[in-house]
Amino acid sequence: MSEKIPYKIYLSEDEVPKAWYNVRADMKNKPAPLLNPGTLKPMTAEELDGVFCDELVKQELDNDTAYFEIPQTILDYYKTYRPSPVVRAYNLEKALDTPAKIYFKFEGNNTSGSHKLNSAIAQAYYAKQQGLKGVTTETGAGQWGTALSMACAYLGLDCKVYMVKTSYEQKPFRREVMRTYGADVTPSPSNTTKVGREILERFPDTPGSLGCAISEAVETAVTHEGYRYVLGSVLNQVLLHQSIIGLEAKAALDKYGVKPDLIIGCAGGGSNLGGLISPFMGEKLRGEANYDFLAVEPASCPSLTRGKYAYDFCDTGMVCPLAKMYTLGSGFMPSPIHAGGLRYHGMSSILSQLYHDGYMRAATVKQTEVFAAAEQFARIEGILPAPESSHAIRAAIDEALKCRESGEEKTILFGLTGTGYFDMVAYGQYNDGLMKDSVLTDEALEESLKGLPKVDL
Ligand SMILES: *Cc1c(COP(=O)(O)O)cnc(C)c1O
Repeated sequence: MSEKIPYKIYLSEDEVPKAWYNVRADMKNKPAPLLNPGTLKPMTAEELDGVFCDELVKQELDNDTAYFEIPQTILDYYKTYRPSPVVRAYNLEKALDTPAKIYFKFEGNNTSGSHKLNSAIAQAYYAKQQGLKGVTTETGAGQWGTALSMACAYLGLDCKVYMVKTSYEQKPFRREVMRTYGADVTPSPSNTTKVGREILERFPDTPGSLGCAISEAVETAVTHEGYRYVLGSVLNQVLLHQSIIGLEAKAALDKYGVKPDLIIGCAGGGSNLGGLISPFMGEKLRGEANYDFLAVEPASCPSLTRGKYAYDFCDTGMVCPLAKMYTLGSGFMPSPIHAGGLRYHGMSSILSQLYHDGYMRAATVKQTEVFAAAEQFARIEGILPAPESSHAIRAAIDEALKCRESGEEKTILFGLTGTGYFDMVAYGQYNDGLMKDSVLTDEALEESLKGLPKVDL
């Protein structure tokens, strides 16, 4: 059977999924609701409507509807870069001399270079539908900002991006890609917002952080008529849109009767992993099939493996709603030597709940191991992976090597979320042998967790 499986499995246009799948519909324990940071009461739709687009608020709060039809405009845009292939990594299997069968779902085939476009186009679409002028957001490494700029250009929306200052300075090409698509890009913290000015006053030399850029983007949205804030990960709505990854992957594998034993994804805020595993997790939750799910995070930013399951702020400025999630504390910043992305302090509430209930596993990897896996993969399979994606590659290679020892013919599916063309400074450090590992110390973790808000529910 396996001989017949092509190197790349593509779906035809009519095999492409026409609805997103909402895994919350099949969860017995639903993810905890977002809380209002002022009252600590669950956020109502009306409260959320001030920050997010109306339709996206409905998706955010809907724990029961299993399928959401994908609007035709979004399907049309998806056609420009989807379906994305499921690749049978024959070359990697051979190089590793493993009996394991390795598949990856490749999301790097669009200009943003990552899976983030899947949600960007959806969020921009609903903003446009609502008659808004534009959206605001933050970006760290730049993939999300790029994806949103592309989506806004397509739909004719204004796009204001707060880019973490170090990235703004270190990744000028990312910045210019966004500007080419028409976005207005501001380094964060900036003096365009109250929260930005406050942070600059206290820490004039701060390199910025995602949490801080989020605060600025939210403030800008709520103080500008006709603008809403959009977020590229963590939220329930984002996992819903990203379910397209898993639905396509499952449809492609089903065509050949392939059932993965182990599904691996890197985990920053949880959107690609949540999207990839959703339909498989649905089967597990309904008791129809069993799968082993593995979230892979950096040792320097280990929210699932070492964080606390608690309500926390989603941003440094504490203006956003609180989410119950595995968190390292909203003031957390990974060590400055960390170069591999996945820097967010928290994790999607959906994945946090599933992890808490024992439906998935998590592991950490160190960055030199991650870049070693990236290099090996690039040389063998040809694709230059994003450092984020390479966390999943590392874990997949390690699992395949275990199979070589045990002789087990495990079927492994991992998410290859994007390409690393804008990460060459980090690759350069690795190539020059200058990259060091950083593992979060217990002391630093304890210190960071002291800032958790006190919430009694
Ligand atoms: C943003 C990003 C991630 C991490 O975000 P998740 O929400 O955890 O998926 C992973 N890979 C790439 C290429 C990214 O751009």
